Amino acid sequence: MNLNEIKEIKGFMPNHEGMALFKWAQKFSKLGHILEIGTYCGKSSIYLSFGAKKNDKYVYTIDHHKGSEEHQFNEEYFDHEIYDKLNKRINTFPFLIRNINKFKIKNIVPIIGTSVEISSKWQSQISMLFIDGGHSFESANNDYEHWEPKIVNGGCLVIHDIFENPDEGGQAPYEIYQKALQNNYKIYERVDTIICLIKG
Ligand code: SAH
Ligand code: MG
Repeated sequence: MNLNEIKEIKGFMPNHEGMALFKWAQKFSKLGHILEIGTYCGKSSIYLSFGAKKNDKYVYTIDHHKGSEEHQFNEEYFDHEIYDKLNKRINTFPFLIRNINKFKIKNIVPIIGTSVEISSKWQSQISMLFIDGGHSFESANNDYEHWEPKIVNGGCLVIHDIFENPDEGGQAPYEIYQKALQNNYKIYERVDTIICLIKG
Protein backbone atom coordinates (compact mmCIF):
# COMPACT_ATOMS: atom_id res chain seq x y z
CA MET A 1 0.00 0.00 0.00
CA ASN A 2 1.30 3.46 -0.76
CA LEU A 3 0.34 7.10 -0.30
CA ASN A 4 -1.42 7.22 -3.63
CA GLU A 5 -4.00 4.65 -2.54
CA ILE A 6 -5.22 6.68 0.46
CA LYS A 7 -7.43 8.64 -1.97
CA GLU A 8 -9.77 5.65 -2.22
CA ILE A 9 -10.62 5.57 1.50
CA LYS A 10 -14.08 6.73 2.55
CA GLY A 11 -13.84 10.14 4.19
CA PHE A 12 -13.64 13.90 4.01
CA MET A 13 -10.01 14.59 3.16
CA PRO A 14 -9.30 15.48 -0.47
CA ASN A 15 -5.90 14.30 -1.69
CA HIS A 16 -4.24 17.72 -2.06
CA GLU A 17 -5.12 18.57 1.57
CA GLY A 18 -4.16 15.08 2.74
CA MET A 19 -0.75 15.47 1.13
CA ALA A 20 -0.30 18.70 3.10
CA LEU A 21 -1.14 16.77 6.29
CA PHE A 22 1.44 14.14 5.34
CA LYS A 23 4.12 16.78 4.77
CA TRP A 24 3.37 18.68 8.02
CA ALA A 25 3.30 15.41 9.98
CA GLN A 26 6.70 14.53 8.61
CA LYS A 27 8.11 17.89 9.72
CA PHE A 28 6.46 18.39 13.12
CA SER A 29 6.51 14.81 14.44
CA LYS A 30 10.23 15.27 14.93
CA LEU A 31 9.05 17.03 18.13
CA GLY A 32 6.76 14.24 19.39
CA HIS A 33 3.57 12.28 18.78
CA ILE A 34 0.54 13.62 16.88
CA LEU A 35 -3.05 13.88 18.10
CA GLU A 36 -6.10 14.02 15.84
CA ILE A 37 -9.70 14.80 16.77
CA GLY A 38 -12.21 13.32 14.28
CA THR A 39 -11.04 9.94 12.94
CA TYR A 40 -14.17 8.90 11.00
CA CYS A 41 -12.88 5.97 8.85
CA GLY A 42 -9.22 6.89 9.25
CA LYS A 43 -8.49 8.71 6.00
CA SER A 44 -6.71 11.75 7.48
CA SER A 45 -5.19 9.53 10.21
CA ILE A 46 -3.48 7.46 7.53
CA TYR A 47 -2.03 10.53 5.77
CA LEU A 48 -0.71 11.62 9.17
CA SER A 49 0.64 8.16 9.97
CA PHE A 50 2.71 8.03 6.78
CA GLY A 51 4.36 11.31 7.85
CA ALA A 52 4.84 10.31 11.51
CA LYS A 53 6.38 6.99 10.48
CA LYS A 54 9.45 8.84 9.18
CA ASN A 55 10.21 9.92 12.76
CA ASP A 56 9.04 6.71 14.41
CA LYS A 57 6.08 8.48 16.08
CA TYR A 58 2.44 7.63 16.76
CA VAL A 59 -0.81 9.21 15.62
CA TYR A 60 -3.36 9.11 18.46
CA THR A 61 -6.79 9.63 16.97
CA ILE A 62 -9.97 10.37 18.92
CA ASP A 63 -13.56 9.71 17.85
CA HIS A 64 -16.66 8.38 19.59
CA HIS A 65 -17.40 6.86 16.15
CA LYS A 66 -21.07 7.88 16.38
CA GLY A 67 -20.70 10.53 13.68
CA SER A 68 -21.22 14.30 13.77
CA GLU A 69 -24.62 16.01 13.40
CA GLU A 70 -24.36 16.04 9.59
CA HIS A 71 -23.71 12.28 9.39
CA GLN A 72 -26.91 11.25 11.18
CA PHE A 73 -29.92 9.60 9.51
CA ASN A 74 -31.65 12.03 7.09
CA GLU A 75 -28.86 14.63 7.41
CA GLU A 76 -26.74 16.00 4.54
CA TYR A 77 -23.80 13.59 4.82
CA PHE A 78 -25.67 10.46 5.92
CA ASP A 79 -24.06 7.33 4.43
CA HIS A 80 -26.00 4.08 4.71
CA GLU A 81 -22.75 2.04 4.62
CA ILE A 82 -21.72 3.33 8.05
CA TYR A 83 -25.18 2.89 9.57
CA ASP A 84 -25.50 -0.03 11.96
CA LYS A 85 -29.14 -1.05 11.39
CA LEU A 86 -29.22 -3.45 14.32
CA ASN A 87 -28.23 -0.80 16.84
CA LYS A 88 -29.75 2.09 14.88
CA ARG A 89 -26.61 4.22 15.00
CA ILE A 90 -23.66 5.37 12.93
CA ASN A 91 -20.56 3.30 13.64
CA THR A 92 -17.37 4.12 11.76
CA PHE A 93 -15.07 2.05 13.96
CA PRO A 94 -15.20 -1.16 11.84
CA PHE A 95 -14.13 0.91 8.79
CA LEU A 96 -11.21 2.37 10.72
CA ILE A 97 -9.95 -1.09 11.74
CA ARG A 98 -10.36 -2.39 8.19
CA ASN A 99 -8.36 0.54 6.77
CA ILE A 100 -5.59 0.23 9.37
CA ASN A 101 -5.24 -3.45 8.48
CA LYS A 102 -5.46 -2.87 4.75
CA PHE A 103 -2.64 -0.33 4.85
CA LYS A 104 -0.67 -2.42 7.38
CA ILE A 105 -0.39 0.62 9.65
CA LYS A 106 1.47 0.17 12.91
CA ASN A 107 1.59 3.70 14.28
CA ILE A 108 -2.09 4.68 14.67
CA VAL A 109 -3.56 4.46 18.17
CA PRO A 110 -7.39 4.71 18.00
CA ILE A 111 -9.04 6.22 21.06
CA ILE A 112 -12.81 5.72 21.30
CA GLY A 113 -14.42 8.54 23.23
CA THR A 114 -15.33 12.18 23.38
CA SER A 115 -12.63 14.78 22.84
CA VAL A 116 -13.21 16.77 26.03
CA GLU A 117 -13.46 13.71 28.28
CA ILE A 118 -10.18 12.34 27.02
CA SER A 119 -8.42 15.71 27.22
CA SER A 120 -9.06 15.88 30.98
CA LYS A 121 -7.00 12.72 31.51
CA TRP A 122 -4.34 13.35 28.88
CA GLN A 123 -1.10 14.48 30.49
CA SER A 124 1.64 14.48 27.88
CA GLN A 125 2.56 17.09 25.29
CA ILE A 126 1.99 16.66 21.57
CA SER A 127 3.88 17.96 18.54
CA MET A 128 0.89 18.44 16.28
CA LEU A 129 -2.84 18.79 16.95
CA PHE A 130 -5.26 18.21 14.09
CA ILE A 131 -8.80 19.46 14.74
CA ASP A 132 -11.41 17.88 12.44
CA GLY A 133 -14.17 16.79 14.85
CA GLY A 134 -17.61 18.31 15.44
CA HIS A 135 -18.27 21.50 13.51
CA SER A 136 -20.67 23.24 15.87
CA PHE A 137 -19.10 26.28 17.50
CA GLU A 138 -19.27 24.60 20.91
CA SER A 139 -17.54 21.44 19.72
CA ALA A 140 -14.75 23.16 17.74
CA ASN A 141 -14.15 25.66 20.53
CA ASN A 142 -13.97 22.86 23.13
CA ASP A 143 -11.45 21.01 21.02
CA TYR A 144 -9.34 24.14 20.74
CA GLU A 145 -9.57 25.17 24.41
CA HIS A 146 -8.95 21.70 25.88
CA TRP A 147 -6.24 20.45 23.56
CA GLU A 148 -4.30 23.51 22.38
CA PRO A 149 -2.40 23.87 25.72
CA LYS A 150 -0.88 20.42 25.14
CA ILE A 151 0.99 21.46 21.97
CA VAL A 152 4.73 22.00 22.51
CA ASN A 153 6.27 25.34 21.63
CA GLY A 154 7.40 25.13 18.02
CA GLY A 155 4.73 22.48 17.38
CA CYS A 156 1.66 23.05 15.22
CA LEU A 157 -2.11 23.36 15.27
CA VAL A 158 -3.83 22.21 12.08
CA ILE A 159 -7.50 23.02 11.41
CA HIS A 160 -9.65 21.65 8.59
CA ASP A 161 -12.69 23.16 6.82
CA ILE A 162 -11.70 26.81 6.95
CA PHE A 163 -14.22 28.91 5.01
CA GLU A 164 -14.03 32.71 5.10
CA ASN A 165 -17.31 32.88 3.26
CA PRO A 166 -20.31 31.58 5.28
CA ASP A 167 -22.02 30.57 2.00
CA GLU A 168 -19.32 27.96 1.44
CA GLY A 169 -19.31 26.32 4.87
CA GLY A 170 -19.74 26.51 8.63
CA GLN A 171 -17.81 29.17 10.49
CA ALA A 172 -16.67 27.32 13.64
CA PRO A 173 -13.29 26.14 12.27
CA TYR A 174 -12.65 29.66 10.92
CA GLU A 175 -13.49 31.17 14.31
CA ILE A 176 -11.04 28.98 16.23
CA TYR A 177 -8.41 29.74 13.61
CA GLN A 178 -8.94 33.48 14.23
CA LYS A 179 -8.74 32.87 17.97
CA ALA A 180 -5.43 31.01 17.59
CA LEU A 181 -3.98 33.93 15.62
CA GLN A 182 -4.72 36.17 18.60
CA ASN A 183 -3.10 33.66 20.96
CA ASN A 184 0.49 32.87 20.17
CA TYR A 185 -0.01 31.15 16.77
CA LYS A 186 1.30 32.22 13.37
CA ILE A 187 0.43 30.93 9.93
CA TYR A 188 2.89 28.35 8.66
CA GLU A 189 1.10 27.25 5.51
CA ARG A 190 -2.36 26.84 4.04
CA VAL A 191 -3.63 24.50 1.34
CA ASP A 192 -7.19 25.22 0.25
CA THR A 193 -9.37 24.71 3.40
CA ILE A 194 -6.67 23.27 5.67
CA ILE A 195 -4.34 25.49 7.66
CA CYS A 196 -1.19 24.85 9.69
CA LEU A 197 -0.29 27.30 12.48
CA ILE A 198 2.95 27.25 14.46
CA LYS A 199 2.87 27.79 18.22
CA GLY A 200 5.17 30.36 19.79
N1 SAH B 1 -10.86 13.34 9.53
C1 SAH B 1 -11.90 12.54 8.90
C2 SAH B 1 -13.27 13.21 8.92
C3 SAH B 1 -13.78 13.51 10.32
S1 SAH B 1 -15.54 13.77 10.34
C4 SAH B 1 -11.49 12.16 7.49
O1 SAH B 1 -10.33 12.37 7.09
O2 SAH B 1 -12.31 11.61 6.75
C5 SAH B 1 -15.76 14.26 12.00
C6 SAH B 1 -15.70 13.13 13.02
O3 SAH B 1 -15.66 13.72 14.31
C7 SAH B 1 -16.89 12.17 13.03
O4 SAH B 1 -16.46 10.85 12.80
C8 SAH B 1 -17.50 12.31 14.44
O5 SAH B 1 -17.92 11.09 15.01
C9 SAH B 1 -16.34 12.90 15.24
N2 SAH B 1 -16.73 13.74 16.38
C10 SAH B 1 -17.60 14.78 16.40
N3 SAH B 1 -17.64 15.35 17.62
C11 SAH B 1 -16.77 14.66 18.40
C12 SAH B 1 -16.38 14.75 19.77
N4 SAH B 1 -16.87 15.71 20.57
N5 SAH B 1 -15.47 13.87 20.25
C13 SAH B 1 -14.97 12.90 19.44
N6 SAH B 1 -15.30 12.77 18.12
C14 SAH B 1 -16.19 13.62 17.62
MG1 MG C 1 -13.04 18.02 7.80
